[in-house]
Amino acid sequence: MRFLITGAAGFLGAPLANRLIQEGHRVVGLDDLSTGDPERLSPEVHLVRGDVNDRPKLWSLLQEVDCVYHLAARVIVPESVLYPREYNQVNVGGTVTLMEAMRDVGVRRVVFISSGTIYGNQKTQPVRESCRPNPRSPYAVSKLSAEYYIRTIGDLWGIETVCLRVFNAYGPGQRLPPTNAPVIPYCIRQAIDHGTIVVHGDGKQTRDYVYIDDVVDAMSSAATIPDIKRLIINVGSGKETSVSEVIKHVLDITKAKPEIVTNKTHDSGPSRMRADLGLAEKKLGYKPKVSLVEGLTRTIAEDPRFHKDE
Ligand code: NAD
Repeated sequence: MRFLITGAAGFLGAPLANRLIQEGHRVVGLDDLSTGDPERLSPEVHLVRGDVNDRPKLWSLLQEVDCVYHLAARVIVPESVLYPREYNQVNVGGTVTLMEAMRDVGVRRVVFISSGTIYGNQKTQPVRESCRPNPRSPYAVSKLSAEYYIRTIGDLWGIETVCLRVFNAYGPGQRLPPTNAPVIPYCIRQAIDHGTIVVHGDGKQTRDYVYIDDVVDAMSSAATIPDIKRLIINVGSGKETSVSEVIKHVLDITKAKPEIVTNKTHDSGPSRMRADLGLAEKKLGYKPKVSLVEGLTRTIAEDPRFHKDE
C-alpha cells in the first residue's frame, strides 16, 4: 500500500513510518519539522518538509495514496492554554485542509490520531468510546473538533474514517521540552541527572500509560481492517497508574535517589484515566503487550539521551 503520514517525523509518526516500511509499504511523510526529527526516519521514507495547511502540496502528495495517517499537530496541553488560536489553526484547520484535499484527490481512508484527553474527568472508569467527552483544555477541544470534522467530511464524501483515541503514550524518543515535559521522560531525566522531581497535585492522579510499540500495532492495524466508517477506538494499556507509582518504578529501575517535592496547589488534570479496550480488541485485534515496568526499562535502555555519561 501507499501511505501519507502527516507529522511523520514526530514521536509517534516516525516509528509508525518505519514499521510500515518494514512491512513493505511505500511511505511519504509530511512534516514542518517544528518539533519533529527527520533523523529518526528510515531512509526509505520519502519525507517532504511542509505545512499541513498547504493544500497544493497536499494535492500532489496525496496522488495514488491508499490511506492517510493524520498525526501533525501541536501537542502540549499547557501551551494550548496560552496559544489556543495557534492550536486551533494547526490541529483543527490542518485537519479540515487535509480532509478537503483528500476529497479533491479521492483518497479512500484516513486514520486520525486523536487523544484520550478529550474525555477529561469521567466518573465511570474505564472510559468507553460512548462516554460524553469533557475536554478541559484548548488542546483537547482541538482534537475533539478535528474528530467531528474527520467524521462529518468523511461521511459527506465517502471517505472511510477511524479516530484512534490514544492515551498517554511513552517510549524512547518522546519529546522532552525544558518546561511542560510529559511525566515519564521528565521523571527519568530528573532521576538520572540527580535533579528534583516536582509532583503536581497529590501524586494519586492516575493515567493510562501505553508503550509506543503497542500504539504502533494499533495504528498499523487500522489501515486495513474492514468496516471502519465513523469508527472511534480507544488505544491504551487498559491499566491505570498513579504518578507516585510511576516515580517508584523509575527509581527502582534507575536506582536513583532524587529529591521529590510536591506542589499540591497546581492543577494536575483529571483524577483518573483508564481506557476501556473492548472495541480496540474487537475491531483491531488489539492487545497491549508491554507492561509499564518493561516499557520503562526499555525506554531507559534504548533512549540515548538517558546515557549521556557513557
Ligand atoms: P510530536 O510533536 O512528536 O509530533 C507531531 C509532529 O507534527 C511533529 O513532528 C511536528 O513537527 C509536526 N507538525 C506540527 N505542526 C505541523 C504542521 N503545521 N504541519 C506539518 N507538521 C506539523 O507529538 P506526538 O506525541 O508524536 O503526537 C503525534 C499525534 O498523536 C498528535 O496528533 C497528538 O495529538 C497525538 N497523540 C499523542 C499522544 C502521546 O501520548 N504522545 C497521545 C494522544 C494523541
